Amino acid sequence: MAQNTVIKAGHLFDSKTGKMLTDQTIIIRDGKIKEVGANLKYNVNDSVVDLSTSWVLPGLMDCHVHITDNNPYRTPNRGIPTSYMRESSSFRALRGAFVAEQFLMSGFTTIKEIGNDANYATADVIKAIRQGWITGPAIFYAGKIIAPYGGQSGGVNVENENAWQFEYIDADTPDEIRKAVRKNIYYGANTIKMVTGDNGIYDAADIKAAVDESKKYGVKVTVHVADKDGATQVILGGAAAIEHGFGLDNNHLQLMKDKGIFLVGTDFSFDNWYAYGMDSVTARMLTNKIIDRLKRAYKIGTKMAFGTDIIIDLPGLNRVQTSLKVLQTWKAAQIPPSYILQTMTIYAAELLGIEKDKGIIAPSFTADIIALKKNPLDDIDAVNQVHFVMKEGKIIKKDK
Ligand SMILES: [Zn+2]
Repeated sequence: MAQNTVIKAGHLFDSKTGKMLTDQTIIIRDGKIKEVGANLKYNVNDSVVDLSTSWVLPGLMDCHVHITDNNPYRTPNRGIPTSYMRESSSFRALRGAFVAEQFLMSGFTTIKEIGNDANYATADVIKAIRQGWITGPAIFYAGKIIAPYGGQSGGVNVENENAWQFEYIDADTPDEIRKAVRKNIYYGANTIKMVTGDNGIYDAADIKAAVDESKKYGVKVTVHVADKDGATQVILGGAAAIEHGFGLDNNHLQLMKDKGIFLVGTDFSFDNWYAYGMDSVTARMLTNKIIDRLKRAYKIGTKMAFGTDIIIDLPGLNRVQTSLKVLQTWKAAQIPPSYILQTMTIYAAELLGIEKDKGIIAPSFTADIIALKKNPLDDIDAVNQVHFVMKEGKIIKKDK
């Protein structure tokens, strides 16, 4: 008889209700969850994983990462353009492989890589994971960022106008946008990322062109809105999500709720802002602005999916440890831990379009399962201590 894997879960997070269940058994076979419940019977030859003193959750998801990128700590003016000159796409892919493994080992079984990855470096990381050469999470991938002329550059002289195209596609009309979508999909993208408001501002018709073209291939469009410029056009254009949205007002947040558009808030903590090299007064001001936006979005009921956007590692911390500093902002905004976990699981899965396959521990779902030492509903920082990781039914990590 074929062997199942059986997890004895002392505590099990039900991402649908946000509640913690006790003494549950999970039966897994061929990468899928077969059964979940109390006192389930299983076969004597099944392989049993004893997590009876742990808190068991669906694999976590981060919907805004840049695995191939890294900027040095507190070094202004050594930003993205410098990396074009010093770091090749192959070097960037190697970093991507390194960081991808960190995410998986820290319990993130799915991530969304959202651009700024040189010349499609992440496409090769994804291929290497599929080949089994390296270990990493399932990766949603945006390819190059589609933006109005200039990408997110500033002050580049005309002789170097091609520099930003290392990581961006200039697209200024609906036709150019459709072509950019097709190009990204050709090179492996299964999500589309646009930027508005950094240089030019897209109209609703521009956003809609990307949304309509992407829909043909089952792909969703997400748009970077740094403050609020262009936000209304993005909402009217029908994007699936707004990234950052630090300056969104209550009207924006209400409109997003009404239309089912997600906020991926990339809610930097003070430490994350300070890493960019700004003074502490500015870092505090920006953090407070996000805390306020997060509180308002939660109160209004805008859908949210967890996303971090970290490209500067804090001293002594790896990429994921640094990314989880954003939880300080969620805590300061007094968002309940159960809701934060839902943004990292069931709601993230909905944004990614995998809500029938991942984000819940239930029959027929993929067996992406992690375990924590402490109760995350008491303190969300418990997600920093993941001691068990299963991806697609395979045990990746199992610490004492
Ligand atoms: Zn980002």
